[in-house]
This record gives sequence, structure tokens and C-alpha cells, in this order.
Amino acid sequence: MDKVKLMKMAENPDLIPGIYNYCDRWCERCTFTSRCLTFLTEEEKKKESGYSPGSDGLNEEFWKGIKDNFSLAMEMVRDFAEKEGIDLEAAMESEEVEAAMVRSEKRSDDANAHQCSKMAVDYYRLVNNWLEEARGEWEGIREDLTSAFRLKLPGRDPENELVKLNDIMDVIRWYQYFISVKIHRALSGRAEDREEWPDDETTGDADGSAKIALIAIDRSIGAWAALNTEFPEQEDETLEILVLLDRLRKALESEFPDARAFIRPGFDEDLIFSTPINTSGGPKK
Ligand code: SF4
Repeated sequence: MDKVKLMKMAENPDLIPGIYNYCDRWCERCTFTSRCLTFLTEEEKKKESGYSPGSDGLNEEFWKGIKDNFSLAMEMVRDFAEKEGIDLEAAMESEEVEAAMVRSEKRSDDANAHQCSKMAVDYYRLVNNWLEEARGEWEGIREDLTSAFRLKLPGRDPENELVKLNDIMDVIRWYQYFISVKIHRALSGRAEDREEWPDDETTGDADGSAKIALIAIDRSIGAWAALNTEFPEQEDETLEILVLLDRLRKALESEFPDARAFIRPGFDEDLIFSTPINTSGGPKK
């Protein structure tokens, strides 16, 4: 996709500016795809390349798409620099840029060392261990449900049970690493804001990242609680995971006390569009 087409798409009045900044990137389950520039541009690029997942040739298209994104971004950066009279080559070599990179690395290291980040890493490792240990049982349950479906056993709805189990696992897997990434973004983003604007105590963007991390934690807690009833033999491990998630939730709420109140564009707002939409909430004052 060229930048002219991108600019044209961005003019769509129904788009919600910045909605993709505080979402969970689960586009398959998103109710705002038609109002998200990220989703629409990705779809357009797939259409242009004929991409759909599933084969080496098509995966090659995927990586080509990533490369094209990079080229498009660089073209836009160069245009911006030219317009603003910035010499990009000189800028990249300046002491100021080097110092900024050192500060950025420090913020990242500090975020990694934070107790919330450590708990989030503990969490995804525990999930990996659990998935490894429960693999046999999981397969057994799937086989049992498949047989029940084939035999049409009375009083059972194996198809529905299987869908439910798959949904639970999808939620766990989707957020497994996402939580850690968003917590890191919230912590390092807040540190950057404090460096840039020491007199401004608002933490808008960091709160938005913390909020989506909290939502992911809430949903993961719900999924583990549901799974606990399906894997009673694994109750000790499941409870250990639930306790860790709950501790993480509380620590993050304490670190970002305004995060729950953050209004995410689209998801938490009352919106008026040319096409009706089913959502609720109110803008942040
Ligand atoms: S807002 Fe929805 S469609 Fe857009 S990137 Fe996020 S999950 Fe995907």
C-alpha cells in the first residue's frame, strides 16, 4: 500500500483515532474492526498481496508485508523530516540521540526490574509449565468429547463443551505474554513522561496500557477459574496461577491507581457514527 492510499483511508470519518493503542490486538474477536485504521490497512494489504495464512508461499507474503510496512514508515519519516527541515543522518549521530537511547535502555531495564513485570514473567512461565504438564489430560478430554459426539451420547453436548474449552484456552494463550508486554509499556512510558514533563503528574498513556493489562488479567482469571472446573486434578497448579494473577492485579492497580478509570477510545466511549454501533461508556474529563 502506498502512502496516498493510506492517507485516503485515514480520512474515513467513522474511524476512531488511536483505538488500536489500548486494545488487546485480538482483531478476530474485536467489535470495532470497521472503525480501526490498523485493521483496515492490514486487510487492504492482505487483499493487495492475495495473502491468507496457511502455506509457505503465503507466509512469504506475510514477511513481505512486514518489509513493505517498514518501507512505508521510512518514507513517511523522510517526508516529515524534509518538511520540518531535519537532517536525519546528522540527527542520528548527535550526542542528544545517543543520550536518549541510553535513557530509553535504562527505562526499559527499570521496567523489567519492577515487581509487576517480574510477576508477569512468572505468570507466563507458570502457564508454559501448566500447558506442558496438562497436555496429556487435555488430549484425553478432547478425545472423550470427540467420542461422545460420534456416539451421540444422551444428555451431553460435546460440541458445545469443546467450543467452550477451546475458548477458555484461547483466552489464556492470547493474554499469556500480552500482560507482560503491556505492563512494560505502562512502566517505561510513565518513566518517559516523567522525564519529559516532570511538572505534569497525569499518566494518561501509561494508564491506558495499564488498563488493558488489567483487563487481560481479569479475563485470564476468569478463564483459569472456568478451567479449574474442567481439570480438577490440576487444582493445586491452577490455584497457584490464580493466586499469582490476583497478586499481580492488585500490585498493578496500586501502581496505577487511575488506570481503571482511563477511557479507551471506542471501547469505553459513547460514540456517534454514520453506522450504528453497540458500545457504552463516557469520555474522560
Ligand atoms: S482495535 Fe480491534 S481491530 Fe483494531 S487492532 Fe485492536 S483489536 Fe484489532
